[in-house]
Amino acid sequence: MRAVFKSEPKLGLQFQENVDEPTITNHDNDVLIKVKRAGICGTDMHIYSWDAWAQHRMGAKLPMITGHEVAGTVVEVGKNITTVSEGDLVSAETHLACGKCYLCRTGRKATCQNSVILGVDTNGVYADYAILHEENAWVNDPNLPLEVAAVLEPLGNAFHTVLPEHNIEDIVGKKVLVTGAGPIGLFTIALCKQIGAEEVYATEVNPMRIDLAKKMGADRVINPIEEDTYKEVMDLTNNMGADVLLEISGHSQALKDGLRSLVPGGRVSLLGIFDKDVTMDLNDLLIFKGARVFGITGRRMFDTWYQLKGVLSRPDFRNKVKSVITDQYDLADINKAMDNIAQGHSAKTILKVND
Ligand code: NAD
Ligand code: ZN
Repeated sequence: MRAVFKSEPKLGLQFQENVDEPTITNHDNDVLIKVKRAGICGTDMHIYSWDAWAQHRMGAKLPMITGHEVAGTVVEVGKNITTVSEGDLVSAETHLACGKCYLCRTGRKATCQNSVILGVDTNGVYADYAILHEENAWVNDPNLPLEVAAVLEPLGNAFHTVLPEHNIEDIVGKKVLVTGAGPIGLFTIALCKQIGAEEVYATEVNPMRIDLAKKMGADRVINPIEEDTYKEVMDLTNNMGADVLLEISGHSQALKDGLRSLVPGGRVSLLGIFDKDVTMDLNDLLIFKGARVFGITGRRMFDTWYQLKGVLSRPDFRNKVKSVITDQYDLADINKAMDNIAQGHSAKTILKVND
């Protein structure tokens, strides 16, 4: 088969042909999928550029087939499998929690410290065939467009950020500020509109993504290079501030401006990853504000996936998700795709692997 490896500890990925296909012989709890589409995300970019995080996390594991966001059809199932069948269109929950530890057994699989991550700790999905554990193979509506099925994992990050608990009333009728309109921020804007936010404001600096944020239904997109986020949000909210801040940029100034613009007692979800320590006035920005803060990691297993399924039954929402996918490349062109992303020309990029 064809596969994309990280085999050398330097910039770039290696496309190879005539690689042995994986087999599920002796894998009674696994399923073999034929990969149809695969998404590219920030983690894959870290591995491509071989930055400090990638070196630390994967240095001892090369060569490894990379990639984790996937849509594929099941071609074979292990003998213990009961929830997935041959022919199913599946996506992957990419964190395989151990299921046995204190965290897993108290409803916190997303934070399991023994998680094995597809395409990071074990061979991934940038290949014609890949193996998933049964629990992590999420069966889709067979009519779900392949490109949408390929981005359910980051869409799940957006869901988790919006709904960290069963608290939908935190969004319905509320004024929501989303900082950062990368692919996950864009999904988040569409989702908040879909589930009944009164108004959604976004901040973003990239002009192409600003346009997409409007397309997702943002009522106002603020460019913090040209405007003062705090002043704009105060004008939009009768000087009250936003009810909810969803931080999806990983940029410290966006976080600080967002917290300043939050109503006292408001809710904050933090998904964006900061590349260094953030210094701020915690007293005024969080404590005296009585803010409720959620750190968000991965997706809630598997509450987030059921929530996703419900909203994806709406064609208008599916179409918005599709329009975040701005670029598609063949598997063999992986390095071209990575280079294009690195230059900031795309929102979401996916790989076409098989028809
Ligand atoms: P991305 O990097 O494409 O999106 C970030 C966006 O923020 C970009 O569009 C960028 O232009 C914008 N931005 C930069 N500076 C800004 C500023 N000052 N104000 C407003 N916007 C600004 O990434 P993505 O794939 O959409 O992911 C979003 C974030 O979530 C990243 O930081 C990523 O590492 C993180 N992430 C976290 C988890 C988790 O489990 N916590 C999972 C996936 C991704
Ligand atoms: Zn565990």
